[in-house]
Amino acid sequence: MRETLRGIAPLVASPPAFDATRAEHIAAQRFGELGAATELGGERDQNFRIDTDDGRYVLKISNHTDGPETLDVQAEALRHISRTAPDLPVMQPVPTVEGNPWTAVEMDGETHLIRLFTFLPGGSPSGGTLDEDALYEYGGTVARVGRALRGFFHPDARYEVLWDLRYTSDLRELIYAIKDDQRRALAERVLDRFDDRVAPSFESLRAQVIHNDLTLDNVLFDEGKVSGIVDFGDLTHTALVSDLAIALASVMHRCTDPFDAARHVIRGYVEITPLTDSEARILGDLVAARLLSWGVIVAWRSVEHPEKTDHTTTGVEDGWALLQSLERTGLDVVGRRLRTAALSSNVPYPRMEQSELLSRRQTVMGDSPLFYCDPVHFVGGEGVWLFDSAGRRYLDAYNNVQVVGHGNARVADAVGGQVSKLTTNTRYLHEAVVTLSERLLETLPDGLDRVMFVNSGSEANDLAWRLAAAATGRDGAVVSEHAYHGITDATVALSPADWPRKTRPDHVETVPPPARSHHRGAQPSGAEAMTAALDRLGRRGYDPAAFVFDPLFTSDGIFPPNSERLTAMAGRIHDLDGLIIADEVQAGYGRTGSNLWGFQATDVVPDIVTMGKPMGNGHPVAAVATRSDIASVLMDRTGMFSTFGGNPVSCAAALAVMDVIEDEGLLAQTREVGAYLHDGLVDMSTRYDVIGDVRREGTMVGVELVSDEDDWTPATDTAKDVVEGLRRRRVLIGSSGSSDNVLKIRPPLVFERDHADRLLGVLDSVLETECDG
Ligand code: PMP
Repeated sequence: MRETLRGIAPLVASPPAFDATRAEHIAAQRFGELGAATELGGERDQNFRIDTDDGRYVLKISNHTDGPETLDVQAEALRHISRTAPDLPVMQPVPTVEGNPWTAVEMDGETHLIRLFTFLPGGSPSGGTLDEDALYEYGGTVARVGRALRGFFHPDARYEVLWDLRYTSDLRELIYAIKDDQRRALAERVLDRFDDRVAPSFESLRAQVIHNDLTLDNVLFDEGKVSGIVDFGDLTHTALVSDLAIALASVMHRCTDPFDAARHVIRGYVEITPLTDSEARILGDLVAARLLSWGVIVAWRSVEHPEKTDHTTTGVEDGWALLQSLERTGLDVVGRRLRTAALSSNVPYPRMEQSELLSRRQTVMGDSPLFYCDPVHFVGGEGVWLFDSAGRRYLDAYNNVQVVGHGNARVADAVGGQVSKLTTNTRYLHEAVVTLSERLLETLPDGLDRVMFVNSGSEANDLAWRLAAAATGRDGAVVSEHAYHGITDATVALSPADWPRKTRPDHVETVPPPARSHHRGAQPSGAEAMTAALDRLGRRGYDPAAFVFDPLFTSDGIFPPNSERLTAMAGRIHDLDGLIIADEVQAGYGRTGSNLWGFQATDVVPDIVTMGKPMGNGHPVAAVATRSDIASVLMDRTGMFSTFGGNPVSCAAALAVMDVIEDEGLLAQTREVGAYLHDGLVDMSTRYDVIGDVRREGTMVGVELVSDEDDWTPATDTAKDVVEGLRRRRVLIGSSGSSDNVLKIRPPLVFERDHADRLLGVLDSVLETECDG
């Protein structure tokens, strides 16, 4: 039964056993090349080097299971490569004296087809002898062979051979032959992963005829350069990415730093053939599958066909050792590293070393701010993880823009798909912008019935301010004490956090954020605070156009919305015919865990809602939603058009984000994980006096650090040290508040309990170091 497994026939038969004299005879008689024969290795064919007076050849005596169809595929493929990539150093067939591509010879009742090829110089390098450039060239060569074969077709091209990664799941039938219990268990686990993660999508990968065995045994090197590509015996129609996985497995088990070597090979490959996201995602599993095929086939042959020994056994122990070490690293981590290498190589700019990058950045960007005293150079991300240029991963508990996770495949596919299809503007009809507008309005209160698209939170707030000023005919504003609303002239004025020289513009007044009374003294009520602010504004000659607020008061130090207080404030504004602008750039897109929008945690009904940041998961897109009576005033006066605002690519990104939030139940997850994180932090606050307060809504969490709980002295330096300490332990958070003493924890919404545990554990150890318990 086992001998009838698909693709196993070629692995069972032993290579033919011609002697050198007979080989010399065949070379002379059938091919007209007279010379001495020296036997070379071969897994299932027998190969002889023939040294003649005017050159060297390889006489290839095929296994009797390989008939004329198989050889014809290989011959045609070589001919195709000579036409499409004449500079690739592939072996060239030499016809028989009669002009045929092969000749047939009988041996022990079996027919063997025999070919002669030109002999290519060079040899198989050991991993250590390949430097960066050689590894890069190897990767490029693998890609070029695939590219050269891209348009090749042959009716017999589906050669069934168990080395084809398509048959990985079938290896399960052979693992009984692995003697070592631990290795057998490892094989089971790798196969389980393969069945789970790779098999379901294998048939939808890019497929074509590929070489299928471009190991360092078959890509020859001479003085660090590729000199020959040989052995097309496993050529078949299968997933294109298999060639890269096979090359990686070949390099990684020979090198002392497998990931470093893999990166260079990948770089060479993707520069010619960029990987699709679905290929990059399974690359690690395909490398594991190749290593496993190797181990299993050798083990099985040693049990069932002990007479068959060939070069495939050489190095197989290193193959097992690599597979074991990859599993120890974690196949998820391996997969991410290879994917990151594949996708981050696939970009139109050169990679730079950190020191070079820093100095060149300084030259062209001056003192443009960077996080951390030791800045981080990220090259990739996945979910809640970011990867730096050395391949180290960081837990991201800070970036809210990537709301549905770094490198989210659905968003990437939506953006990539739309970019390659159409990128226009809203002056042409398009479904995406209409669908997105409808989807957004469905989530907002009745009455908000218009959407306008721009490209950043600042632009959205700027437009909101213009709308409010036009609709009310006023120019006074009220904001919170340490608000931030953007970088344009109008929005800087609305941002006390960024007021130049801390000077208040005449037309702006502030109200305190909701604060716990025990550390801020007696608070005026919401109505009192707003009345006082409006009085001050009025005394300077301004009536309120709008109260602009971030429902989570992120820049003020993170305060959960207090409905009663905010409703009273909004009421005072509405009484004077001013408008309420909810700036959802931070609080929106599910951050609170209860609704899509932060203001929905209160009874306030805004007249204008602005959104941005997470809206495109990293793609720049922002919007303003308002009522038609408000929008029409500005539209009638000046109109409003933004070249990029609402373009189909941005809308595709924004629609994909909404889909993922809904389909993956991210609001519920945010509620659950936010509460869990909060409990852990409250527990920690009982052990560290420096934690004065833990505030949060969903997964917007503020941990206020104070050096003296009685007079509530902000522990600004400690907060900075904690943020830096977490960075050194590879966890990212930030800080906020007017004294910058509030730890800002605001992870992508795909943050899970395990991630919260890691954050809590690392924070605990950093606080222990910084604050001595
Ligand atoms: N509003 C709020 C509440 C913000 O936090 C920010 C950005 N941090 C902005 C507006 C401005 O958004 P952008 O940087 O996209 O212009």
